[in-house]
Amino acid sequence: MDGHVVIVGAGIVGLNAAFFLRRDGWQVTVVARDPVSDTTSCGNAGAIAACEVIPNAGAHTWRKVPGWLLDPLGPLAIRWAYLPRLLPWLRRHLAAGSRSAVAATVAALAGLHRTAFDDHGTMVAEAGLGHLLRRDGALFVYRSAAAFAAETADWDLRRRHGYDHQPLDRDGLLAREPALGPEARAGCWVPDWAHYLDPRALSVGLTSHLRERGVRFVRGQVTDVETAAGSVATVRAGEKRIAADRVVVAAGAWSARLSKALGEPFPLESERGYNTTLPDPGIEVSNFITFAEDHFVLTPMAMGLRIGGAVEFAGLEAPPKYARARALADLARRYLPGLNVEGGKDWMGNRPQTPDSIPVIGPSARHRGLFYAFGHGHLGLTGSAPTGRVLADLLAGRDPDLDLTPFRIDRYR
Ligand SMILES: Cc1cc2nc3c(=O)[nH]c(=O)nc-3n(C[C@H](O)[C@H](O)[C@H](O)COP(=O)(O)OP(=O)(O)OC[C@H]3O[C@@H](n4cnc5c(N)ncnc54)[C@H](O)[C@@H]3O)c2cc1C
Repeated sequence: MDGHVVIVGAGIVGLNAAFFLRRDGWQVTVVARDPVSDTTSCGNAGAIAACEVIPNAGAHTWRKVPGWLLDPLGPLAIRWAYLPRLLPWLRRHLAAGSRSAVAATVAALAGLHRTAFDDHGTMVAEAGLGHLLRRDGALFVYRSAAAFAAETADWDLRRRHGYDHQPLDRDGLLAREPALGPEARAGCWVPDWAHYLDPRALSVGLTSHLRERGVRFVRGQVTDVETAAGSVATVRAGEKRIAADRVVVAAGAWSARLSKALGEPFPLESERGYNTTLPDPGIEVSNFITFAEDHFVLTPMAMGLRIGGAVEFAGLEAPPKYARARALADLARRYLPGLNVEGGKDWMGNRPQTPDSIPVIGPSARHRGLFYAFGHGHLGLTGSAPTGRVLADLLAGRDPDLDLTPFRIDRYR
């Protein structure tokens, strides 16, 4: 392809956009405010969780919310000073919990994730990063068979979208993960699941590969995209002005600030999440594990065991509350009695969350040559490679084989 694409953001979504666009022959420049090694994409749980297509806006989630909010270190927290700013988003989020809205989200995410393993596979193979990816399934653990049975409808729904699971009793769980203690009584095995052993090494390695392929990286905070005769023309980052034929806004949780400046406001919130990585956990854990009732996950990574989760609404500026990360490690010890939680490295990241859990992917409704790729929420690593592939198809005029209507920037106008 002939022309220059400027991508705003070097999180895993922007990097995958750069990968698939460069493959098509575009000249590509990535402009990012933060170092590549210091984004939300670098600290996450590493899962390619293609089967996770059910949004948490559903009624069964909201029934549990009052109890969660009473627990200061529970799975959901709202900093009360932030509530007035959050309310309009919350109203839309609640509306996205209706039966028909949930069905629309499931269909949209299933469509995007359908090619996730293939697209990630293409990217890691060409970038020489296959050693970071493990495609060896995941365990879901419950404290009782009744709790697992209560989620049968969700598991059936995943199965209808092609994601199988094998129910396990306690013995079955222990056969796969001997370190699990008596709290793990039921669950299942999900074979179609993969995880990266080090998401930071993925971003840094992909960046090196892109540089070798001729992609230019520029540090700077983009404040505006200037247009000429209705088409994008120049990206402005401080004193820097970069001429562009196409622009992709992939600035994670900060993307709505840019879309608003471009006349396309979008209701985006940060769902802040936490984790701690234990360098010396004292036990062997070989599976990615979701502890379903307690809403946290554990990833065996190259640098230790990463334990994370939690949702905190506090906006983009509030300082992190790392006690949340440590509370998750203490919770993990209930399931893994031998776990050593000393020496953990705590981390917080901003999940870019749309009210309906469907990311924004596709062209601007106002400016020719402008595209959006943000709002992947809890599943931005999973959705990053398919999003990059879809954008490349769109910019090349190919059919992306995905109905982009639910992903539109103007769906809340
Ligand atoms: C605790 C936790 C665990 C998670 N686990 C998983 C998981 O297992 N699997 C999964 O699929 N997802 C997971 N996620 C979600 C995933 O991490 C995010 O959805 C994803 O990282 C978002 O990527 P991004 O590229 O959109 O944004 P980011 O990684 O936040 O990158 C945004 C980029 O935009 C740049 N930027 C912002 N504003 C500007 C500007 N004005 N000008 C220039 N640059 C700008 C930033 O510098 C950065 O480079 C998790 C998230 C958290 C918090």
